[in-house]
Amino acid sequence: METHVVNLLDFDADALTEWFVQQGEKPFRAKQVLRWVHRFGATDFEQMTDVAKSLRAKLAATACITPPVPVRDSVSTDGTRKWLLDVGNGNAVETVFIPETNRGTLCISSQAGCALDCAFCSTGKQGFNRNLTAAEIIGQLWLANRMLGANGDGERVISNVVMMGMGEPLANFDNVVSALKLMLDDNAYGLSRRRVTVSTSGIVPAMDRLRDACPTALAVSLHASNDALRDKLVPINQKYPLRELMAACRRYLEKAPRDFITFEYVMLDGVNDSDVHARELVALTRDVPCKFNLIPFNPFPSSGFDRSPAPRIKRFAEILIDAGIVTTTRKTRGDDVDAACGQLAGQVKDKTRRTATRIVPVVEVRS
Ligand code: SAH
Ligand code: SF4
Repeated sequence: METHVVNLLDFDADALTEWFVQQGEKPFRAKQVLRWVHRFGATDFEQMTDVAKSLRAKLAATACITPPVPVRDSVSTDGTRKWLLDVGNGNAVETVFIPETNRGTLCISSQAGCALDCAFCSTGKQGFNRNLTAAEIIGQLWLANRMLGANGDGERVISNVVMMGMGEPLANFDNVVSALKLMLDDNAYGLSRRRVTVSTSGIVPAMDRLRDACPTALAVSLHASNDALRDKLVPINQKYPLRELMAACRRYLEKAPRDFITFEYVMLDGVNDSDVHARELVALTRDVPCKFNLIPFNPFPSSGFDRSPAPRIKRFAEILIDAGIVTTTRKTRGDDVDAACGQLAGQVKDKTRRTATRIVPVVEVRS
């Protein structure tokens, strides 16, 4: 009889328990196996010494632990590290690790490409290819832990996860939620909800579902202060306009692990960066406890936009700060390896050509 081999990285705790029970095994096996897979990075069932030999053999015949395949591993001069992962059909997604003094943040992708077509985003310009599986999403954390030398017991290298890579996480809801649950699970990665951030362009019904299914910290890509402008920059706004988006933010905060929403705002020269826009933002967000994170636009070929000059960003931030809103400006990290926000692109071939000339130094994993 042919057996379908399942990838255990696709299962969160509930799904794995159910799978074991279906196989006639005890539910607690799920907990044991989850720990081996995610805490210790096991890929071989023979390593699972507290699992009975007969069960190990059965697992070897019916299951596998298959993380995504890195086709390139680049280190930026600022220490930012980027992995390009082959997801088949000539498509690739990227995972970025950003080391800072007191934390290490991993930026994870949720889709190959993105259907939402925001005007200033290079992922959006590629169009939508496909949703990543739960294994491909959590596999990015699994892989980064291994590549960064985490051993399951020692100090955490990755202390924070942001779903801010390629794709719209809430458009791949079920797989993203399975992966989020593993990030939070004490038998897997054990991160606190406050240290896991989902970034969304504002898919209102899915924000409500996330609040109920697995509330984490939430970042909302605002990028405009009124509907006319946001309709153009973030086209999903035509479906879920600002009034509905602000109401969804307030509802989210009823269950959110943090008591504020982070609004992301890309600074586009002469487009959304005037004093008037800043004042409009203050009025728009009056009833939403929030912080602002201003993102200097990261250019990519033929984007048609320019980054706002630094003094303009400073003045824009001051208006928000004077109105009592905590506002930070994102430091651009990893742009020498095209790892900065909105620079992530998905063509293996294209990437190979571009990075080859720009990275110092390049660590090749496999070519
Ligand atoms: N799809 C999700 C998450 C991925 S993008 C979202 O849109 O929120 C992470 C952040 O980078 C978003 O705020 C996105 O709007 C922003 N971004 C996209 N392209 C950018 C660019 N070229 N420069 C700066 N930020 C960009
Ligand atoms: Fe998709 Fe986010 Fe890029 Fe918009 S900004 S196209 S939602 S990845």
